[in-house]
Amino acid sequence: MSAERLNGEPCGPGTFAVESAGQPGVWYGVEFQNAAVRWCPCNGFQQRNDCRHVREAETLWRSEHEAMLAAHRADPGRQAEATKRLKEIAEMFE
Ligand SMILES: [Zn+2]
Repeated sequence: MSAERLNGEPCGPGTFAVESAGQPGVWYGVEFQNAAVRWCPCNGFQQRNDCRHVREAETLWRSEHEAMLAAHRADPGRQAEATKRLKEIAEMFE
């Protein structure tokens, strides 16, 4: 399984392409705003408001944040900013 960002800035809202596990070669366009606001065109999402594709997109989105935070940690001058951003992210998932 794989996922990739199609548009939008890293860490921001955008569209993610997520490959189907059951049908390799079939990709779903997941619209991702944040952990609470996301949408997938697959049948599972229409029925349950949740599916593997949106979770894959979320995993990728979180990894973008982790990469950004790691970059900030490497720069002591931006430590405070990274700490603030991390707190904001934590609040998004509450
Ligand atoms: Zn889906």
